[in-house]
Amino acid sequence: MIQPDRGSRALAGLVAQVAKWIHGSIVPIALLAALAGFTASQAFAWTKWDDADKWWTKGGTLNVYVEDPPAGAPAGTSAAVDEAIKEWNDAQAPFGGLKLVRQDTSSDDKKKEAKKTADIHISWTGATDSETNKKDAVDKTSNGFTKETVRVGIKTTGNSNAITRRLKHEIGHAEGLDHDARSALMRENAYSKTNAGPTLADLNSADPFISPTDDDKAGKKSMWGTTKKLSESEDASGAVFNGTNWVYDYNVHALDLPGLTDPVTEFSIQLLSGIGLGDFSVTGIPTGWHSVFFDGNIIPGGEFSDDGADPSPSVLSFLADLPSFGIQPGQTFNFELASPFAPGNTRAFTNSPSFDSDEFIIQAPSRAPEPSTLALLASALAGLVTTWRVRQSAVTI
Ligand SMILES: [Zn+2]
Repeated sequence: MIQPDRGSRALAGLVAQVAKWIHGSIVPIALLAALAGFTASQAFAWTKWDDADKWWTKGGTLNVYVEDPPAGAPAGTSAAVDEAIKEWNDAQAPFGGLKLVRQDTSSDDKKKEAKKTADIHISWTGATDSETNKKDAVDKTSNGFTKETVRVGIKTTGNSNAITRRLKHEIGHAEGLDHDARSALMRENAYSKTNAGPTLADLNSADPFISPTDDDKAGKKSMWGTTKKLSESEDASGAVFNGTNWVYDYNVHALDLPGLTDPVTEFSIQLLSGIGLGDFSVTGIPTGWHSVFFDGNIIPGGEFSDDGADPSPSVLSFLADLPSFGIQPGQTFNFELASPFAPGNTRAFTNSPSFDSDEFIIQAPSRAPEPSTLALLASALAGLVTTWRVRQSAVTI
């Protein structure tokens, strides 16, 4: 199995180690802030896969070069490509996102011509696991392509349902989405009925296919959408130690500006590593909203857990029961957690009925190797961290 992002994973591991060290030590707040800013830029993934937002341009048309399916591939393999392409195109059309176009490769001449303009290269891996490689020069240097490409390898074991399911998931990666516990399609155990990755039987199933979810669309719109936003939000959050617990306070505000007519109907927090459902309690939630915990801890193995993308964090989502209960422009709603675990920095994002999303760096409970030491440190820093708020404007539109 090729691991094209081994370097970035190693870097992330180093950062995690340094973060652990910092949690157990007295360090200048400036260093803590600098490290947090760095880790945030590495970890962005609602969905977004590392620097995938630099691969393509907003509203762009991407040419998809599809290798001829091998003799052993199930009937319907080529049609599955068309279906997966249509699925993602349809999902993005309302906000002017990416458009995939399958190239004509019906002759050797056409193939040669297509390689000059291909952006995504789909090939078939036989019994080897499916994978998506980050955009790179391998096709350019070795395979006669003109541009750097994202290379997608699709396993051909199983029936045509399995091919379709793999393609829908992997094309989601090719357009920039990472694994996401919040997305039924892009999570590592998509199509599985358990906490483990999907088996071949899961992929072969005659069950209905999963379409791109609202969060997938929010990610795509944030990266690639060209229509105007109908909702924009900001978050002022902080964490205060009350002598027993840390109280995490999130004030999500929907901006009241011309053209902003949609409410905010989702506020999701990417939980830090090791934080589970029993490590915090939801102590404040607006009327007409509910919270849902999405477990990102997947039992290793299965069809999607090692396909090139990163493991996904667990997510705590606050969701409006109906759009009318959402945060209307001009309103500020409060969400609150209590936890014995001291603050760490993580990512949160909002969503709306038109898939307008904003991202924030916020405080959330973090596992620390020495909670008592951390509590003392955190108490000392509480006055500073409670006022710290970073708006990630670079990834909003
Ligand atoms: Zn995947």
